[in-house]
Amino acid sequence: MGRISSPFIFFILALTASNAHAAPPATLIHQQAQNQTLQDIGWRLAQGNARFCNKVQQSTGLQLQDMRSYKAPDTVRQVLGLNGDFAVASIARGSPAQGAGLMTNQEVLAVAGQRLDVWPAAKQLDWKRQARAQDAIDRALERNGSVAITLATGQTVELRGTPICATRFDLAGKGDHAVAEGRRIIVGADFPGFGYLEDEFAAAIAHEAAHDWLDHQTWLNAHGRKQKHIRLTEREADRLMPWLLANAGYDPAAALRFMKRWGPHHDGGVFRKRTHDGWDERAQAIAEEVEIVSKRMAASGSADWRNFFRRDVAIAPPDQSRVVE
Ligand SMILES: [Zn+2]
Repeated sequence: MGRISSPFIFFILALTASNAHAAPPATLIHQQAQNQTLQDIGWRLAQGNARFCNKVQQSTGLQLQDMRSYKAPDTVRQVLGLNGDFAVASIARGSPAQGAGLMTNQEVLAVAGQRLDVWPAAKQLDWKRQARAQDAIDRALERNGSVAITLATGQTVELRGTPICATRFDLAGKGDHAVAEGRRIIVGADFPGFGYLEDEFAAAIAHEAAHDWLDHQTWLNAHGRKQKHIRLTEREADRLMPWLLANAGYDPAAALRFMKRWGPHHDGGVFRKRTHDGWDERAQAIAEEVEIVSKRMAASGSADWRNFFRRDVAIAPPDQSRVVE
């Protein structure tokens, strides 16, 4: 896990395949399953911690896909049986969109009355229109508390929103890293976490979410990206993992299991530049934090990291005007 960012990330890029004549359904199924797992975990973390996040938004748990984001739009359109470019990509488990009668790969015509296909897009590998469609959903939710999704069947489904920490979770077709980008967490299709137990994978995502929700980018921008500063933010992200997991209904100790599984194999290479502690030190710090979180959960039933998490980096005092439920 690192804080590098790539300008070349496209949603489900690997689907493009080198064989432009036939996107293999097995690849499609695999990538959609990966994406579904990521969205399910992301939803639990973002929804479960909304009470404590600074930046909160309404969300339905519905994610769309745009055929133009693929390398071979015609092929994928054909495989999915679509006439147009937009379809349901995923419906997060436990979200308002679940149980609304929507299905993955169902064709979508419009969001909040706006036709999506008419928006300009490059012929292929254009991820921006998909992001624009998600933005349209977010804006409608902000305005009305609900959003109308018009399907190719002519049916319109009205989805209500619920508060989540303002973050999107995107699967990148390539790469074995997970990266936090402020309001977006990008996970490469080869990230080892996909092979872990769900709660251990959730711990890895929680680490990245911690960078965003503790606003580390802002702090590093203000104070400089010295190795010792990055190390401080990495320690905080590690220690926040069990808090975020607990509020999402996962076992907070999964953070420790994750580090013990992941650490020994990823304790070197590019990340061993004094920016991260050794994995055994990281595991020790996490174990201590799991104890704290377990006590808080036993006492109050939630892990209020907004008020009780010990910060290592100096921050401005929290905005007291925000209403905390
Ligand atoms: Zn990190």
